[in-house]
Amino acid sequence: MNVEKLDDILKDFPAYRKKQVLAYMFKNFVSDFDEMTSLPKDLREILKKNCSLEINSDMYISDDLETYKSLITLSDGKKIEAVLMKHDDKRNTVCVSSQVGCPVGCEFCATGRMGFTRNLTVDEILLQVVLFERLLKKENSRVTNVVFMGMGEPMFNYENVMSAVRLLNSKGFFGIAARHISISTSGIVGGIKRLMEEKLQINLAISFHAPTDEKRSKIMPINKNFGISAIVSALKEYILKTKRRVMIEYILIDHINDFEADAYKLADIVKGDYFFVNLIPYNPTGEFKPSFSERVKKFKEILKGRGITVTQRYRFGRGIKAACGQLAVK
Ligand code: SAH
Ligand code: SF4
Repeated sequence: MNVEKLDDILKDFPAYRKKQVLAYMFKNFVSDFDEMTSLPKDLREILKKNCSLEINSDMYISDDLETYKSLITLSDGKKIEAVLMKHDDKRNTVCVSSQVGCPVGCEFCATGRMGFTRNLTVDEILLQVVLFERLLKKENSRVTNVVFMGMGEPMFNYENVMSAVRLLNSKGFFGIAARHISISTSGIVGGIKRLMEEKLQINLAISFHAPTDEKRSKIMPINKNFGISAIVSALKEYILKTKRRVMIEYILIDHINDFEADAYKLADIVKGDYFFVNLIPYNPTGEFKPSFSERVKKFKEILKGRGITVTQRYRFGRGIKAACGQLAVK
């Protein structure tokens, strides 16, 4: 798919043609220019010659048919991952990548260990959603939620991510409610501050993963640049300004961040109605191991005992390497 070329191709055509073509791509999700029947035939031929609607992807489907993971090859040969999670309540969540690789380099993350290659264009972010919209269209269904929790740090590709968010949210295109769009960040303070100025009701999630700077810096080296107190004060400002809740993501890694003392410290940091903690089972990608269920249970009990709202992310897509970066690394 290459939307960037459209301006050039359409320069001799009336302006509304671009809108029509974009609606075919991002609202009707057609995969063939011949389906763009309201365009004149000569324009369709020009588009066919100069543009492509093809999305080059390998699809891996979980045994329970609820998780679809795609490894997409971009026009320069680089690979990214996008995942569709079908929920029982008819929600269809797509997890998108914002970069090829990631410069943040978290120790537990397969993407982080790949290093950073480049930012994705707006087009490349959107094609991940288009891929699954095309698939769901065949089942008379739609993508209902988009989360920026695939490869990459969205705040380091801020402009393109926000342009993609606006198109996803636009009624003339994907039409996905802002409240159904989430951005997850490793805690880039400048990005959190920019986001609070946007007039958009999207959700913010923070990869917290440890309650002290010492521990967090060990698994997330970026913590040396943006430490816990800087992140938390940016979040408090964000909450004050947007009145929106913030998700604190916490992967439980065996004997790394799952001690009772960690739970107590975390509870002190994220108390208050506007925070909630999402405990994520760790998907092993290297040396770390997921926490044992008794430790998870205890961790959760401590947080709840301190009045913290806790949710638990279900482990999606067993058997298809659902953790971000695992396919691309292979
Ligand atoms: N870079 C952003 C968004 C992408 S990562 C961020 O870090 O927030 C999305 C989430 O998946 C993050 O919370 C991240 O810490 C988590 N994650 C990374 N590797 C994982 C793994 N192996 N198992 C479980 N969660 C993982
Ligand atoms: Fe990057 Fe997020 Fe992975 Fe950390 S967890 S390396 S920020 S993708």
